[in-house]
Amino acid sequence: MKTFINNGFTGLVAKKLSKILISSCLLGQPVRYDGQSKEIQNPALDRWLLEGRLVPVCPEVSGGLPVPRPAAEMEGFADEILIGNGFVKTADNEDVSRYFLYGAQHVLTLCRRENIRIAILKENSPSCGSAQVYDGSFSHTLISGAGITTTLLRQNGITIFNEFEIDKAAVYLAALSAC
Ligand code: SF4
Repeated sequence: MKTFINNGFTGLVAKKLSKILISSCLLGQPVRYDGQSKEIQNPALDRWLLEGRLVPVCPEVSGGLPVPRPAAEMEGFADEILIGNGFVKTADNEDVSRYFLYGAQHVLTLCRRENIRIAILKENSPSCGSAQVYDGSFSHTLISGAGITTTLLRQNGITIFNEFEIDKAAVYLAALSAC
């Protein structure tokens, strides 16, 4: 697990650096439904960590779900679920939508507070996925779509990258910083 340290960036220098939201499981925090993490290694991430830019969050834990927890998948597309047309359910048919919706709102509030305009989120998750999600059948079938948190953040102008797009995120961040 990556360690957060006092990096010595203070005052004006720290304030000018854009913050980056990141799925906490990608930094090695064991918050996934199975109690595991999905830590990735990337020099840009290490640099951003040292600069104090990374803001880790797990929407599902923020929404009130425990670790471990039953796997859940969306029934319907995230933009519809966000307005009450659809569900997030476990394989036992338990409706856990409210936890996903609350978690997404929590993350949006965090982004507004920290003035975050860019996020790196874990692909395929019903919260954090940005290109693909599971189809709701619990048969390991991926379809095009995005998770609940990703969709809410996009609706509010935040640009999302997944863990395979760190280089693209770095280019985007450089452009943001030049503004
Ligand atoms: S909700 Fe997002 S941050 Fe939390 S475990 Fe799933 S992919 Fe990782």
